[in-house]
Order: sequence, then structure tokens, then C-alpha cells
Amino acid sequence: MNTKILTDLTSLPTAPFAEDRVIEYVEAFARSRKRIQLSKDSYGNRLLELKGTARGPRWVFVAHMDHPGFVADKMIDARTLAADFRGWVAIEYVRGTKVRFFDGDREITGTVIEAEATDHARLTVPGRVKVRVNGSVAKGSPGMFDQGPARIRGKKLFSRGCDDIAGVASALSMLDQIARTRTKASIAVLLTRAEEEGFIGAIASVLKPDLIRKDDRLISIETSAMQSVTPQGAGVILRVGDKTSIFNSQIMYFLYEQAMKLAEKDTTFKYQRALMPGGTCEATVFDAYGYSCGAVCIPLGNYHNMDREKKRIGPEYIHLDDWRNMVRLFVQIAKNGHTFEAGHRPLKARVEKRFNKLKHLL
Ligand SMILES: [Zn+2]
Repeated sequence: MNTKILTDLTSLPTAPFAEDRVIEYVEAFARSRKRIQLSKDSYGNRLLELKGTARGPRWVFVAHMDHPGFVADKMIDARTLAADFRGWVAIEYVRGTKVRFFDGDREITGTVIEAEATDHARLTVPGRVKVRVNGSVAKGSPGMFDQGPARIRGKKLFSRGCDDIAGVASALSMLDQIARTRTKASIAVLLTRAEEEGFIGAIASVLKPDLIRKDDRLISIETSAMQSVTPQGAGVILRVGDKTSIFNSQIMYFLYEQAMKLAEKDTTFKYQRALMPGGTCEATVFDAYGYSCGAVCIPLGNYHNMDREKKRIGPEYIHLDDWRNMVRLFVQIAKNGHTFEAGHRPLKARVEKRFNKLKHLL
């Protein structure tokens, strides 16, 4: 499977509220594929849709376009930039670290010389920062930890940001694969903004639902801090819950069935099933507002650029096999989405089959 969309996207600059470069890429992607309809809401979330041949609810894959990082505010003097830090990264990692700002085509490097603490979910993260820079940076420009663009080493992809750009890339790769054929169910991808500041784009999308519908079947896509029970290379993860809540049981069962079918056909397809407690994802928001939402993720190394062993900022990394398995699962869901039966019919049929066989023993 081609990884160009993945390496392209994970090389782009982005930060919460400063996702323009990712949006540009997504729009160009949609424009070059005739059947994809692109729409946006007044908050800047984007929806890409491929209409299916049958009526019925859509499947909507959701990923966020930002990554923890900096947004330039103003130059204090010729070499000092005041910026906001957006997202959750422990402050001791941010102090003194190298950053790179993206101002149009210019890239300006710098070092964080001061970071003011704010409280975020009981952990200390930076709010305002001062950065020693080697040139001026325009207000609103995104800045990222200077950990380089995407590069592949062996089976792993390293980049200054995988969360959740690798998720965005998996959704676009799925659309790319199904754009030439027609699926029965309509398939859409919702790309949200500013997840790292507390699901701001996702909350906007449910409070003023211009892009999603109450009967959509949602799947939240993430890269999630790897856990010892879900190692890298062991497959895509059916994420039954996160740090805060658990997800729609019917959708998760359907995903499980589709993963099993894929694994039966092809032994190279690997999947895992787990509650990933490393963070809260957008599925929690959709669930809280009454949407049917499941979740899928892949294990992420150096979550939010925190290299816990070296106790300093490092590149995030994912396993390419996990990412490819995630795309394959999405294509499988897209092609079979129309077979979803509400009311847990398939699971009830499965347990009742056993019951009917053994009820005479009761
Ligand atoms: Zn994320």
C-alpha cells in the first residue's frame, strides 16, 4: 500500500487553531477526485463524502487535523517571539526545547527560553512561551517541536507529529481506495480542528451539526499512547473506550466482525482490541451528545513528543504495518457498511444459536 499520503501529511506543519496547511492538502486531495464532495462548517471543520448506491445511514470516519504545538503571537524584539502553546505536553519537556515555525514558505527555527505554566487536567503544561528565534514570525503561524518531517526507518515512521495526522492520512487513503468503485453505504470523513485543546472542533460539530447527522455511524480515529498490552506491530486496535468513557457496543461489535473477516481471508492482517486509557478522544464527545460512535487507533510512540526514557522532546512514531492494517480495516468497513444491522441482531443471533442447541438441557 502506498504511503505517500501518510508521508506527505505527516510532514506538514499544524497546531491547534492553525491547521491551514493540512486543510489545503485535504482540499486539493478532494478536488482531484471528482466523486468526493467537500463541505465545511462555519468553524472550519471539513467533511469529504462519497455517496453510496443505497439509501441508509452513512459511515463517518473522524480524525483531527491538529497536533500539540505553538501559535505565534508577536515579536517582543527582533529575536524574541511570544507564542501560545496549545495542547497537552508536560512543561519540563517544553522548556529549552527546539522549535520550528512555519510562516508561509519560510521556516524559522528557535528555542523555548521561557514557559509559563497553566493547569490542564491536573497536570502542568505551558500556556504562554517566549522563543528565541532567528527571524521574525507572523502572528498566527504554527510552530512545532523541531523533530523533522516524516521519514521511514525500517518498519517505523518517525515525524514531528503523527497524532492525529497519521489518522487523517488513514482516512484519506481509505477514500482514495474506494473513490474509483462505488460502495453501497455512503462514506464520509469528518476532519476536525483543535482536538488537542479539548475537542473544540468536534464539540462545534455537534453543537451546530451542519456536517453530521444524528443517524450517522461514527468512527473516531486516533494514534494513542502505546500500552504494554497493545504493542506496536501487533495490529490496528479496536478501541472500545478511552480514559473517560466507553463507546458504542453495536458499532464496536460490527468492527470486530469485519476485522475477524479480514483476518480469516488474510493472515497478514492483524488487529487488537483494547480500552486505550492514555487519553480522551473525540468518540467521548460524540457519545456524550447521543451519536453512535466507535473508535479505532494505532499505538503511538513518544506520545505528544514526550520521550519518557530520555525525558526530553522526541519524534512521534508509528509502526507502518499497524497503519496499513488500519487502512485495510477502513476499506473493509466502507465496502460492508451497508450490512450493519442495528439492535445487536448479529450478536443476538450468535448467542441464540447456542441457546437453541442446548436449551433442552435446562
Ligand atoms: Zn490525537
